[in-house]
Amino acid sequence: MASEPCHVCERNVRIAGGIGDLWNFAFESTQGMTLVLSDDSEFFLCFECMEQLPDDHEPTAVDVADLKERTEPVEEDGNSFWHWG
Ligand SMILES: [Zn+2]
Repeated sequence: MASEPCHVCERNVRIAGGIGDLWNFAFESTQGMTLVLSDDSEFFLCFECMEQLPDDHEPTAVDVADLKERTEPVEEDGNSFWHWG
């Protein structure tokens, strides 16, 4: 198990060790993933931020930057992860 900071909210996000883990533990143990956008940019995002991306078109680096603009960095607090928002 490892963790990586979310590009948007800067929270440390728990990630599974590999693709096998990802599917075995599904979303219980993994809270984010690397997103490859339609413009070939790559960002690691938590699922919370991923949900904030526009769904009326394929998100691009511009959408991620825009979301980051609108999102306050979150203080690390594992317990409240599923309760905020
Ligand atoms: Zn995030």
